[in-house]
Amino acid sequence: SRREGFSAIPNVKWGDVGGLDLLRKEFDRYIVRRIKHPEDYEEFGVDMETGFLLYGPPGCGKTLIAKAVANEAGANFIHIKGPELLNKYVGESELAVRTIFSRARTCSPCILFFDEVDALTTIRGKEGGWVVERLLNQLLIELDGADQRRGVFVIGATNRPEVMDRAVLRPGRFGKLLYVPLPDPDERGLILKALARKKPVDADVDLLAIGRQETCENLSGADLAAVMNEAAMAALEEKQTLGQCSSDAKTWTIKSAHFEYALKKIS
Ligand code: ATP
Repeated sequence: SRREGFSAIPNVKWGDVGGLDLLRKEFDRYIVRRIKHPEDYEEFGVDMETGFLLYGPPGCGKTLIAKAVANEAGANFIHIKGPELLNKYVGESELAVRTIFSRARTCSPCILFFDEVDALTTIRGKEGGWVVERLLNQLLIELDGADQRRGVFVIGATNRPEVMDRAVLRPGRFGKLLYVPLPDPDERGLILKALARKKPVDADVDLLAIGRQETCENLSGADLAAVMNEAAMAALEEKQTLGQCSSDAKTWTIKSAHFEYALKKIS
């Protein structure tokens, strides 16, 4: 596994993200253009939030969109998992927080992504006790050092915003809250299309119509990725079993029947 604070420009493109148009616009304004044209913001003396909290149900693209933002901006991306940071030996997690921010400054422009950030910022005195408290204090110190944080944007992600210490959600910290909802019927189709980009989906398959089906009700992006994978696997197996028997060179694709099968299996 990669070491803590490993940084690189992610290879997730905007086209890999289905739906979430509003979020894309917000991040374009708040992060991408600021990284690309910092001089404009200097000139106009514009001061804007640099910390964001993505919240909403699991598997709806929080990590994906954060990576796409970094890719679009040509920025480095550091992925920190809240619980992993917390599980470091007592005292070491504070040092780790300092190290992470200093690494982010070194490789700026950089997006520092805290997954399951609620683990680090749970209301004080509850759950983790003083370990969380000290870690949280260190995190606040780093977040407040905005002047020294030039070119470093912080994005947190959580499924449980309600358990987070309010102090973390102030401006300058994870100050801008952005909701990442379950996809609606049309967005489900757009997600399927994004997931199909690098797969041999048959031209006859209407992914938008599949997304609107009742069987897709309440499916998250992650669920739809599982559906796509099952459908691809079914098509692949068909090719491997039937392909040997047929003599003519045929193109094997993922067809409607494979999606129907996959949807039954997933739900
Ligand atoms: P968690 O809260 O569980 O960490 P998350 O919101 O960060 O979830 P992601 O890790 O971004 O979710 O999504 C998991 C996978 O689901 C992605 O790698 C992708 O395959 C698929 N997925 C989710 N949302 C989308 C989307 N909007 N467009 C395309 N694929 C998506």
